[in-house]
Amino acid sequence: MDILCRSMLFEGKAIVTAIDCTETVETARRIHNTSKSATNALARVLAMGVFMSAGFKGLKHKLTIIIDGGGKGGNIIVCGDSGSKVRCRMDNPDCFSGEDVHSAQEVIGFNGRLTVIKDFGLKEPYNGTVRLVNGSVDADFAYYFTVSEQLPSAIATGVSLNEDGSVKAAGAVIVQPMPNCPPEIVETLVDVVKNFKDMDGIVATYTPTTLIEEYFGHFDNKPLQPTYPAYVCSCSREAMERILISMGKKDALEIIEENGKIEFHCDFCHKTQTFTKEDVEKIFEEADDKNNRSDNE
Ligand SMILES: [Zn+2]
Repeated sequence: MDILCRSMLFEGKAIVTAIDCTETVETARRIHNTSKSATNALARVLAMGVFMSAGFKGLKHKLTIIIDGGGKGGNIIVCGDSGSKVRCRMDNPDCFSGEDVHSAQEVIGFNGRLTVIKDFGLKEPYNGTVRLVNGSVDADFAYYFTVSEQLPSAIATGVSLNEDGSVKAAGAVIVQPMPNCPPEIVETLVDVVKNFKDMDGIVATYTPTTLIEEYFGHFDNKPLQPTYPAYVCSCSREAMERILISMGKKDALEIIEENGKIEFHCDFCHKTQTFTKEDVEKIFEEADDKNNRSDNE
């Protein structure tokens, strides 16, 4: 089972997060049939989606990450719901389809932007956009946190693949000093972060718990409640029915007249929902009944 562990360091003056999202990334790989190179890049963005949606609470909190870097993989979108339930899509999951694993930078590109939208169900969603630093994910998100959220962050993502392209390990470590963190503690943390240059090797060796113990255990660390990430799509037949109703009966029946059916395809899980003429008539009948009932109440 995937896990995200967090610990307060130095009496809350800094926080470290370590993530194992191996199963989440492996699910994404199977759904989107990604090449080794695409998996390598997508895994890192997914890890950031896991990180950023971990603290979300309630059904209304939604995260969307959009990266349009101009690389071979095309645009990448990662969405997250509370408790690190994430899903993703990318334009070209089969890019660099050979055995060699190309860098995240080559897949993502670096001529473009990273956009983060956080919707807490309020009037206006929070929206932050930065230019990509180099398309490596780590530097791009570190820059985003510093500029858009005023939270200087050290980020290292790691991916290790098996021969057949399946995911052996994927994860990340994120270190964030709080605004009241004294410079000498920041310096100490900067030194520790230097250990994460080979993060691909580290995620294959350590679990989040052993990683925090090994590298941060002597910094008065206080573990917080863990989160359990997973690949979960939010699409459902009910949601598609709501889209149908918003289209209106006339337009819906016109499409059926033309195509014999209406199909909705989900880019995040590749499931297709098909509605026949009978389905559509039943859905509008039920919607009318519901409206009449609420009128009479
Ligand atoms: Zn879906």
